Amino acid sequence: MSQQKITADVLVCGAGPSGFAAACSASRMGANVLLVEKYGFPGGAASACLVNPFMISKMNGQDLVRGIFSELIQKLAEKNACKEGSLFDQPHIVFDPEVLKFIMMQMLEQDKVKLLLHSTVVGSIMKGTEIKGVVINGKSGDQQIFAKVVIDATGDGDVAFLSGCGFEKGRKGDGLCQPMTIMFRIGGVDVDKMPAREEINRLYSEKKAHGDIRSPRENFLWFETTRKDEIHVNSTRVPKVDGTDVFDLTKAEIEGRKQVQSIFDFLKGDISGFENSFISYVAPQIGVRETRRITGEYVLNEDDVVEGRKFDDPVAKCNYPIDIHSPEGNSTTFKKLGPGIHYEIPYRCMVPKKVDSLIVTGRAISSTHEALSSARVMPTCVALGQAAGIAAAIAIRKHIQPRKIDYNDLRKDLNDQEAGMR
Ligand SMILES: Cc1cc2nc3c(=O)[nH]c(=O)nc-3n(C[C@H](O)[C@H](O)[C@H](O)COP(=O)(O)OP(=O)(O)OC[C@H]3O[C@@H](n4cnc5c(N)ncnc54)[C@H](O)[C@@H]3O)c2cc1C
Repeated sequence: MSQQKITADVLVCGAGPSGFAAACSASRMGANVLLVEKYGFPGGAASACLVNPFMISKMNGQDLVRGIFSELIQKLAEKNACKEGSLFDQPHIVFDPEVLKFIMMQMLEQDKVKLLLHSTVVGSIMKGTEIKGVVINGKSGDQQIFAKVVIDATGDGDVAFLSGCGFEKGRKGDGLCQPMTIMFRIGGVDVDKMPAREEINRLYSEKKAHGDIRSPRENFLWFETTRKDEIHVNSTRVPKVDGTDVFDLTKAEIEGRKQVQSIFDFLKGDISGFENSFISYVAPQIGVRETRRITGEYVLNEDDVVEGRKFDDPVAKCNYPIDIHSPEGNSTTFKKLGPGIHYEIPYRCMVPKKVDSLIVTGRAISSTHEALSSARVMPTCVALGQAAGIAAAIAIRKHIQPRKIDYNDLRKDLNDQEAGMR
């Protein structure tokens, strides 16, 4: 790689739902933004891990997450690439992941975000406790990038970790994280011939009792897609693995694909509607639900979520349930919030305690294992990202640290960007 000095006002690391939104919002504030991503496309878990659908938060028919997330949905709808639905009384939006990639690329281009793909952040450049930039690695070798504010949107808190920020991983006691899941799709399904969910699950349990299903998951979970003859399967589970360890990730990818095959064999062999079906797509990467959660100025906890706590510095609103896929892999805790209850996530959850000039957004925010099981859903990560980008731009404009910004400034710009934080 050429050794010219690469600089940006705001450097966003990771182009998942959160980093994508952070890059767009910072750029809309007039900042010079560089977005660095290890894959060849944006979308993060929504594209690379085939995670679907968007678990949305609605209150009295109104969306709790607006702004850039609403823009994405509108653009998907214009292309007939999304559909509202609900399962177990939880509203969601299924979407076409390929169209999502195009739309994200288009929005980044329109917002004049510079994009650097195939580049993995492998180091941080520090001056004392302040991050000055990162080191990326790719086909062209190592390269330094300097920025006034860095946003860690890697999902795993990679930049925060490399900068010496404190973090927690997994649940209290044994540190185990939620299991990983490799998502896949089955095409050629005669959906009208499929038995009811209860019947499929009865047969699934029977088969599992005979040891014929490899996944430890207690039931078979599937969603519709935007295509008539296709289903989306979220039923594999690889427990007791660490998403920040390449040896564990390798083990999980291998085991995950074996589970895909065994679940597909069950459906094709035992369930009507699957006679002519085929595996149409397996996610390029296994989905990692949980890894590092940084130690920030505030730690969002389970009581905040279930009691619908409000804060002086809210940046996102959510009412998605506590949804913990047990770290053992064989059960799910799904605790709904009471009727009419939603909680807020304070800006302080994105501000690391020890590192300056760094904002952490998305899945790695400062929270407990339990609170993250709700806050991690993609629309909320988009909302957090939008706020992170704005906060970074404000800090630069005012020549202050992100932890020192005035929330009133953040709220004003969030509302100017129609993020609904009034
Ligand atoms: C199996 C599974 C099922 C889920 N189900 C749902 C669901 O049904 N609905 C829902 O709304 N949410 C669901 N989620 C949650 C949701 O997908 C994630 O929490 C969300 O995508 C997190 O967004 P993010 O932007 O923080 O991180 P990610 O989506 O993980 O994006 C991070 C991005 O950073 C990049 N990156 C990582 N490390 C580096 C690095 N060192 N250098 C450069 N780039 C890097 C990655 O390639 C990626 O593009 C699920 C998650 C999983 C794993």
